[in-house]
Amino acid sequence: MKKPEKKETEKTMNSMNSIFGKYDRKKLRKRIARRQKKALDESIELRNFMKMIPEKYHVKINGVTTSYMNPSLALQQKLSDENLEELKDLHVSKTELFEMMDLADPENPPSDDFFPKCAELLQEIEFLMQRAWGFTEDAAYHTWWYQAPHCTCPTLDNAERFGVEGKIIRHDCPLHGKIYEEAEATAETA
Ligand SMILES: [Zn+2]
Repeated sequence: MKKPEKKETEKTMNSMNSIFGKYDRKKLRKRIARRQKKALDESIELRNFMKMIPEKYHVKINGVTTSYMNPSLALQQKLSDENLEELKDLHVSKTELFEMMDLADPENPPSDDFFPKCAELLQEIEFLMQRAWGFTEDAAYHTWWYQAPHCTCPTLDNAERFGVEGKIIRHDCPLHGKIYEEAEATAETA
């Protein structure tokens, strides 16, 4: 079973630190945990569902379960405890990144390249997740990018293209529009 090399994960986390800039990760985590705790307190179905998932598959932020790893898929992929821990760390990073993006204003971003940088980092995280799961690293199977806060690319159309090469990008998307423009420019000059 392949697992992400520590160095690469660290590199990803470091670039995360650099774009976090003015965002206080402790505060982000507090916000995430508070909201998730409220959701759990308000829904007995959600609480019961989470109880059915063995504790070792829970992804937690400040002691609150925010998501979980699919236990049957973990068994199928013969994940080691180390793989699981790596995946949980990546999920925490993804959740923090989403929170940070959610707090930023697309009309007035912290910097010009803030959202494209976030999108780039999210893609790195998705590749690392694929690797930790023991899957081939393939962007055609990525599913988080179009679910990111402020992404205006079509969710359903992209979800339907699971495993198909090529994304459907809206040129006005604060996250992916620039990439689209660059791709267009490359196509024109090719
Ligand atoms: Zn987008």
